[in-house]
Amino acid sequence: MKKTVFSAMRPTGKLHLGHLVGALDNWLELQEKHACIFSIVDWHALMSEYEQSTEIAENIMDMALDWMACGIDPEKSIIFVQSHVPEHLELQMILACITPLGWLERNPTYKEQLREIKTRDLQTYAFLGYPVLQAADILLYKAGAVPIGEDQLPHIELTREMARRFNHIYKTDFFADCEAILTETPRLLGLDGRKMSKSYKNTVNLSDSPQEIVRKVKTMFTDPKRIKLSDPGHPDKCNVYSYYKVFSPQRADDVHQWCTHAQKGCTECKTILGEAIVDRLADFQEKRNDLAKCKERVREVLDHGQKRAQKIARETMGQVKEIVFGR
Ligand code: SF4
Repeated sequence: MKKTVFSAMRPTGKLHLGHLVGALDNWLELQEKHACIFSIVDWHALMSEYEQSTEIAENIMDMALDWMACGIDPEKSIIFVQSHVPEHLELQMILACITPLGWLERNPTYKEQLREIKTRDLQTYAFLGYPVLQAADILLYKAGAVPIGEDQLPHIELTREMARRFNHIYKTDFFADCEAILTETPRLLGLDGRKMSKSYKNTVNLSDSPQEIVRKVKTMFTDPKRIKLSDPGHPDKCNVYSYYKVFSPQRADDVHQWCTHAQKGCTECKTILGEAIVDRLADFQEKRNDLAKCKERVREVLDHGQKRAQKIARETMGQVKEIVFGR
């Protein structure tokens, strides 16, 4: 049966290969089977980027371009910008009133981000409450399913808890449980072997030129034990090999062979990989370049998405207000 599926991305910078294989490829499959709602969540971006807020508008356009060039189809899915539908904040406020502080303070992702992100001050009221806005994003559309990675399971659990608490307090069964769609997606590390992140400057962006892609791939860290060309390598310990498995799986056996038998050097191996990634992105980039020439079309898609999303959101908020305020 067709479900309503909600998913979102924060427009905090350029999309990279990790977004492509970790989310967008999966979204393409989902939009064929379900009623998908994809949101560019700029309020969530503002929570961390409040000091560079003027960059968010450009990031929104870039993100919409990337999504559409990837094949996210506005005829099949709703694509919209979160702040264009004010009902997100209305529902967030209602959920915030019923969410115990302890739930938010115990959120493992919140604690991890406070620990790891040192370049921004995230000790803010809004950031502590981001799971409340996330819950509002999902519940506003009565989404039955949300595609996520395993590390995001606590967020879905919090959304369920908030929905149940709402139902309990207001003696209703208005919000149903939403389920997580856990998908096995390849986990790509950054070029330097650390977590892929724009703040580490270790990403290959979807909009990088072919020359830039090849140049960046040549900087990838390889098997540290392979020092000389004549040393056999250990592909299973090499990040380059894991990229081959994702972007050129038909070559993976050959790479294994030439690496373990020291038949090719790492520079050549990375050059071939760079070219394979360029090939993989060729159609995407052609479409993206065409779309970038007519941004009016992208704006129309976002306007159309806003109207469709708001129609659902208004209806939900009308019902929620009736339950909460008796009107
Ligand atoms: Fe990695 Fe390729 Fe070098 Fe082997 S030959 S260590 S797979 S870069």
